[in-house]
Amino acid sequence: MSRGQELYCEMCGSRIVGRPYRAVVDGVEMILCASCYLKLMRSGRAQPVRETPKRVGVEPRRARRSPRPRRVSLELYDIVEDYPERIREAREAKGWSLKTLAQKLRISEAMLRKIESGKMKPSIDLARRIEKVLKIKLLVPTELEEDYETPPPEGGLTLGDVVIVRRDED
Ligand SMILES: [Zn+2]
Repeated sequence: MSRGQELYCEMCGSRIVGRPYRAVVDGVEMILCASCYLKLMRSGRAQPVRETPKRVGVEPRRARRSPRPRRVSLELYDIVEDYPERIREAREAKGWSLKTLAQKLRISEAMLRKIESGKMKPSIDLARRIEKVLKIKLLVPTELEEDYETPPPEGGLTLGDVVIVRRDED
């Protein structure tokens, strides 16, 4: 569509003189000559590209994608960095051996040893169990990171604009 390039109407095949029109015809985006565009718009077969309720139906996954952060619910907690020390100190304060604590946590002694030496990070679930058994704190709320989906610029992008911007990025 660069300047000087000849465009042909994708409906009737004739060369487009002047401004090409874009429209969604039967769910497919097409470049049309003025007369096809008007004809199809009048008959209701074509939808303007910029307000395309049809298109939302064509690509439901993209259309449903919300600009709001989506990963927030996945992991609300992270494990503190000094978890090996916290676990070992709490365990020793109770006078428990590795084996005793491992049994209370229903994990292997080898696994607990790896966790206490910092070679293995416990899962969130396991960390919760450790917190309960040892009465210590291992989980901290995760801070929201910047790499969540970029929110749309402030001030007045319509949904249609957002859809178009996203499509152009592909
Ligand atoms: Zn035409």
